[in-house]
Amino acid sequence: MYHLGDVVQMKKPHACGENKWEILRLGADIRLKCMGCGHMVMIARSNFNKKLKKILTMADDPKTADLEYYVPTDQIARPNLKK
Ligand SMILES: [Zn+2]
Repeated sequence: MYHLGDVVQMKKPHACGENKWEILRLGADIRLKCMGCGHMVMIARSNFNKKLKKILTMADDPKTADLEYYVPTDQIARPNLKK
């Protein structure tokens, strides 16, 4: 199972050649950010499940924090959610 802030690999890499995506939003649609170029996409959850290859790292893993476009989980904007 995947969570907000996880980095995942898809069956096809992004056009920039990178194949690491960070999950920025979970809902009926899932927002992903390419960790190679910072490009963001929205994808329907059912479509995401089909295209997902594997989960690379969990949220807040120190390894992913070193990547240029990493957004720490607590900085992902979630205006509609209360903690
Ligand atoms: Zn990219």
